[in-house]
Amino acid sequence: MLGVRHIFIKEDPAATTLQQLELQCAACQKCALAQTRTHIVFGEGDPQARIMIVGEAPGAEEDKQGRPFVGEAGKLLNNMLNAIGIERGETFICNILKCRPPGNRDPQPAEREACVPYLLKQMDIIKPSIILVLGLVAAQTLLNTRQSLGQLREGEHFIQKIPAHVTYHPAALLRNPNWKRPAWQDL
Ligand code: SF4
Repeated sequence: MLGVRHIFIKEDPAATTLQQLELQCAACQKCALAQTRTHIVFGEGDPQARIMIVGEAPGAEEDKQGRPFVGEAGKLLNNMLNAIGIERGETFICNILKCRPPGNRDPQPAEREACVPYLLKQMDIIKPSIILVLGLVAAQTLLNTRQSLGQLREGEHFIQKIPAHVTYHPAALLRNPNWKRPAWQDL
């Protein structure tokens, strides 16, 4: 999977800072999720982070608070990071979608296509050394593939020429504790 190109390059948001980009997202009406969101969830963390962590989409609590990975999955993610000697605040955490899909359904193709350019711009601005992709939906979207999570976890990937690794989404680990050991091994 070396040098995989994604399909989300046709639009380049004009922002040059994270603050500008967040304002664009806050006003965004590019997909129907704008009608149902409470808050956008732009992402948070170190604007010069070496590690960027990308999940799928905000859930109910994230939509309520406007912050990524809060609640139980967020606590588990924090613990996973701490276990490898990383504080959450050293990373930048975000999702492929900035607004919550109702009922936590999977993001639809049109929503991904509309929103991923914001994420790619975040990558351009932050310039992380490594991207950690959490879960199948985010991985398949960013790597433009139908491969399984097992295949993707074993593969070597690049997103925007930045090395990327794929592992389980913390919410999946909460549902399937048996996956925690391989997830820790991924990290
Ligand atoms: S999900 Fe993304 S593209 Fe859709 S309205 Fe929200 S910010 Fe805009």
